[in-house]
Amino acid sequence: MRDFFEDLGKRLGETAETVTSKAGDAIEIQRIKGQIRGLARGNAVDLMELGRTIYDRYKEGGEVEESAKALCDAVRDREAAIEDYEKKIAKIRGTSECARCGRMVSKEMSYCPYCGEKVTVCDADAEEVQDDTDTDDQADSVKEKDGDTAETTAEKTEEAAE
Ligand SMILES: [Zn+2]
Repeated sequence: MRDFFEDLGKRLGETAETVTSKAGDAIEIQRIKGQIRGLARGNAVDLMELGRTIYDRYKEGGEVEESAKALCDAVRDREAAIEDYEKKIAKIRGTSECARCGRMVSKEMSYCPYCGEKVTVCDADAEEVQDDTDTDDQADSVKEKDGDTAETTAEKTEEAAE
């Protein structure tokens, strides 16, 4: 790079020295900017880590500064919304969350391939799940109504809002 600028300077004749010096400045500035970027990246990572630490404390019910609490609330709300959206995708794909291990399992499976838990679409007619594919949608909405988890409640709330 430096050679290139030196050659360029020579070709330009009498202004060669000025050009070389300016080019050298530009290179120096680029080099310093590179260092600044590196430091800024380091700070971004550490600040994120700092935030994560505070958020973890907040989730565990620990004491968090008032200004941090508002941000933690916002993060928690977004996490809840993400969870709802993921459930929505799962619903479209025809999968449901395993009651025992929490992984997404196709509704056409009778047992969870990860932990062996029986896949239940609805508590009342769990036995019919496998061969009763036509009523899947219906069974799905029933399941949401008698779900006992906080997530299901959240989804119910969301559906009510629609
Ligand atoms: Zn499972």
